[in-house]
Amino acid sequence: MIRAVAPVAGMASYPLADLGSSTAISLAQNESAFSVSPKAQAAGQAGLEHATQYPDPDWHALRAAIASAHGVHAEQILCGAGSMELIGCLIRAFAGPGDEVLGTQFGYLFVSTACQQADATYVRAEEPDFTVSVDLLLAAVTEKTRIVFLCNPGNPTGTRIANRDIVRLREALRANILLVVDQAYGEFDDQDQSAVFDLVARGDTVLMRTFSKAYGLAGARVGWGYFPADIAEQTRKLMNPNNISTVSQDMATAAMLDQSHMREVVRQTALIRERFAARLRTMGLEVPESHTNFVLISFKDVETANRANTALLEAGYILRGMGGYGLPACLRATIGTADVMDAVAAILEELTYE
Ligand SMILES: *Cc1c(COP(=O)(O)O)cnc(C)c1O
Repeated sequence: MIRAVAPVAGMASYPLADLGSSTAISLAQNESAFSVSPKAQAAGQAGLEHATQYPDPDWHALRAAIASAHGVHAEQILCGAGSMELIGCLIRAFAGPGDEVLGTQFGYLFVSTACQQADATYVRAEEPDFTVSVDLLLAAVTEKTRIVFLCNPGNPTGTRIANRDIVRLREALRANILLVVDQAYGEFDDQDQSAVFDLVARGDTVLMRTFSKAYGLAGARVGWGYFPADIAEQTRKLMNPNNISTVSQDMATAAMLDQSHMREVVRQTALIRERFAARLRTMGLEVPESHTNFVLISFKDVETANRANTALLEAGYILRGMGGYGLPACLRATIGTADVMDAVAAILEELTYE
């Protein structure tokens, strides 16, 4: 019999979203409800012609675009086939057997998978009221902690903590603990992000961003991180060379340079989200304040959540069940178009929540 190595044989597969039939509308993966920047579409079309060649392995144009939009150093940026690639490689490079990676109770599930790949132990600090607590994170640090992984704003909660609290966390952590701040939804968070970007210069903090959410390029698979140079060097050893296709690099570069399109998507998403959340709260549902392109809906019990999910599925809307996050009484709804969210709210109104 052919056997996988023990850590792989013992690990669970990453739980993929259940996307049902192809005619259903998916609100399960936090994809953008708005169209891709026309400039990015045109750049992708033009890039098709160069598909005979390998892509730029050093992402020159893409890094230059990110550096100019964010005022950061291009040589400290790594680009991944989605930020998932970067997160996986970073964890495998800096944590191994016997090491602990500290995340939060409702933190990004892929981090747990990446820890299993590295044979490291994933530890979670509690999140009271669906919100990260810096004090509880600090209390959960042990001498085995190698990485602290924080998602801000959080997925699947949508909540955020103030950047000054992230600075406080960093200052309280030992110097040999790597802090990773995943800002997959950073574009939706209206607080000034410079304090968090500035932490990278300390040499012990990494920031993660993606084109999958606010830029609407989930299918192109492009993420990026802002790294201290030596941490980038180690992480890159584990990455695939030529990881991002030519067309994807061209689209992401143009999308980054089209900041006004992204900002308009963020503005409209927030308007639809706030209207939807307010309507749900009027029904008596708990919806934590979101700074992302989704909301978490907390029902009074698991049975009610299941009933809501069934009604939505029957009407052709797929939300994300939260059992995998230990929240079986919750559903997560990506913000779709205004019409779609009105339809979802109307279905939920038909159910009784008393
Ligand atoms: C969507 C998401 C990512 C980004 O994934 P990609 O691989 O870049 O598509 C990272 N972290 C969190 C928390 C996310 O929700």
